Amino acid sequence: MTVYGHSGYELRANKWNTLNIFNTSLHHYQHHKFVRYNFGLYLNLWDTMFSTNSPDYKKSFKKLGDRILKANFKSKNSNRI
Ligand SMILES: [Zn+2]
Repeated sequence: MTVYGHSGYELRANKWNTLNIFNTSLHHYQHHKFVRYNFGLYLNLWDTMFSTNSPDYKKSFKKLGDRILKANFKSKNSNRI
C-alpha cells in the first residue's frame, strides 16, 4: 500500500471506491502536493472524521478516472497521475 500510495499511478480510478474506505494513490499524491489535506495513507476514516480530505479530491478522482477511461489503455502510462 505504501508503494502504491507513492507510485504516481492510479490503479483504482476505474473501480468502485468501496465506500471510500481505502485511499488511492491520487489521495496521497494530493497530500504531498497540498500538505494540509489527506493525511491517511491507508484508510480514509480519519480524514473523513476530521474533514481533512482535500476539497478537490473527489472532482480530481473523477477527472482522472474519466481520463483513464478515455485513454482506454492505449498508452501504458494511461494511469499516470
Ligand atoms: Zn507519502
